[in-house]
Amino acid sequence: MKIKTIRDIDVNNKIVILRVDYNVPVIDNKITDDKRIVATLETIKYLYENNAKILILSHRGRPKGERNEKYSLKIVKYVLQKKLGKEVSFFDDILADNIKEEIEKLPFPSITLFENIRFYKQEKKGEEGFAKHIADLGDVYVNDGFAVCHRKHASVYQIPHLMKEKAMGFLIEKEVEHLSSLINNPKKPYIFIIGGAKVSTKLDVLKNTLNYASTIIIGGGLAFTFLKSQGFEIGKSLFEEEMLDECEEIFKIAEKKNVNILLPVDIIVSKTLEGENIRTVQRNQMETDDLGLDIGPMSIEIFKGAVNTAQTIVWNGPMGYFENDNFIKGTEEIAKAVAEKTKNGAYSVIGGGDSSAALHKLHLENDVSFVSTGGGAMLEYLSGIELPGLNALKEEK
Ligand code: AMP
Repeated sequence: MKIKTIRDIDVNNKIVILRVDYNVPVIDNKITDDKRIVATLETIKYLYENNAKILILSHRGRPKGERNEKYSLKIVKYVLQKKLGKEVSFFDDILADNIKEEIEKLPFPSITLFENIRFYKQEKKGEEGFAKHIADLGDVYVNDGFAVCHRKHASVYQIPHLMKEKAMGFLIEKEVEHLSSLINNPKKPYIFIIGGAKVSTKLDVLKNTLNYASTIIIGGGLAFTFLKSQGFEIGKSLFEEEMLDECEEIFKIAEKKNVNILLPVDIIVSKTLEGENIRTVQRNQMETDDLGLDIGPMSIEIFKGAVNTAQTIVWNGPMGYFENDNFIKGTEEIAKAVAEKTKNGAYSVIGGGDSSAALHKLHLENDVSFVSTGGGAMLEYLSGIELPGLNALKEEK
């Protein structure tokens, strides 16, 4: 069944429970990146203009089911208020005895932000009683937190299951529109660029991508398990032994399906993460105490060449240990190549915090077709797995 959008439901005089993702970075009591807040404004404004009483739920950080001021959402209330130019109330405890009466007192329309939903351990456990208590507070459930849709948490999965009227907000609508176009008849050549730390967290997406990609570019830490599976010395680089067979399997399927897999041919190595004795070596020249921390210049050229052939480009994960400037070049060059090719007509979707951060640093965010707000959620979607948070929006009570 199709998922409704908020345009499909009547929210006039209704209490709307809105799940968003305000997991914003905070340094010295200041929000350093308000992208996630800005991303929800369109939905909040729409609900407000249509006379809803909006109850906003979100998590922030990993407070492990306990109240911890460090992860409070109060800091978000002020930014939200400023961005909306409207009063935002803040409720500290969604389990308070008098919560129903307090909500009753709020006018239509109004906006209320609740304290971090992960302050309750019932949230991550997806506890039914907890979900029922919250579901009973509203008439309509709206999810606009795409980045948490792969979680079976109470506010993402159980609450919508308990509610009759539910829909996705504008942010999720856009995500689904873009991501579904990548698995339903995407334009070819389709180039998938994957980086980051682990093969295991990207295995499902890699396997599913073999169904439509022309070329898969593998960079970052996960390239080393692939290189090792091909018999190369990888020194002390990131490695997952239990993934060796899976890597070999991927090569086999790729061959059968005629998918080209590109691995780095040269590597920036160092003896330490901090950067000691940094050298560029061919991939068959790594020493036993080398750490491979970025792709080398020849690999950059080869990867760029592949990007240049694309009609569709998907990128998730950095090409190296980019937190250290010595090893950022591969990630930056790939970001530039994707932006350049987008200018020349390709359709590009980028996801994952690190790849998005690289684009942001180079001021290239507006030079790609779409930047997904989901890291894990985007990967699961592209793996062909139905996201629990989206699935819950479909079902009838
Ligand atoms: P992921 O969350 O799997 O996308 O991984 C992102 C992390 O992978 C970032 O913190 C990168 O610094 C790290 N990373 C990428 N390539 C390497 C590498 N060659 N060696 C060590 N860490 C890496």
